[in-house]
Amino acid sequence: MREASFGVDVGEKWGEGLVAVAEKERLELDVRLESVHEGILVSGEATTRATGICGRCLIDVTEPVEVEFQELFAYPGGEAADFEVQDDHVDLETLVRDATVLSLPFQPVCRPDCPGLDPETGERLAENPGAGPREVLDPRWAALAELASDRDTEPGESGQSTQTS
Ligand SMILES: [Zn+2]
Repeated sequence: MREASFGVDVGEKWGEGLVAVAEKERLELDVRLESVHEGILVSGEATTRATGICGRCLIDVTEPVEVEFQELFAYPGGEAADFEVQDDHVDLETLVRDATVLSLPFQPVCRPDCPGLDPETGERLAENPGAGPREVLDPRWAALAELASDRDTEPGESGQSTQTS
């Protein structure tokens, strides 16, 4: 058995979602290599960070990434395997990249209770505490609905410029 710890720079960007591991981001690896009958069992942990935007309010976010992986690298000539030992080496990139990309959140948030954007103004609600989360906007929505129906019947009365069309 052999253990190794080292850091590498990610070549190209990993991931296509709202957050991804950026090009040239640093990745720390702790790897354990075990010789087994069919090949080399590789297990370990990768740590890096993903950057992108919050899925609710679009602010920049940075997420720590910690993934564990384990895979058998088979000796060539045996049964077909996803990974093979090649020239006495194991190429970890595909394995670590796939594990990392799978661990990235689909809906990253800057904080668990991020209230998102105001549906009317597009401003971040977190920076505008008076507005509050969407649930408490209900009375205002009702008021807006009234305004809209008033405008339909009495077009000249509304002086507000809330019309968005
Ligand atoms: Zn947010």
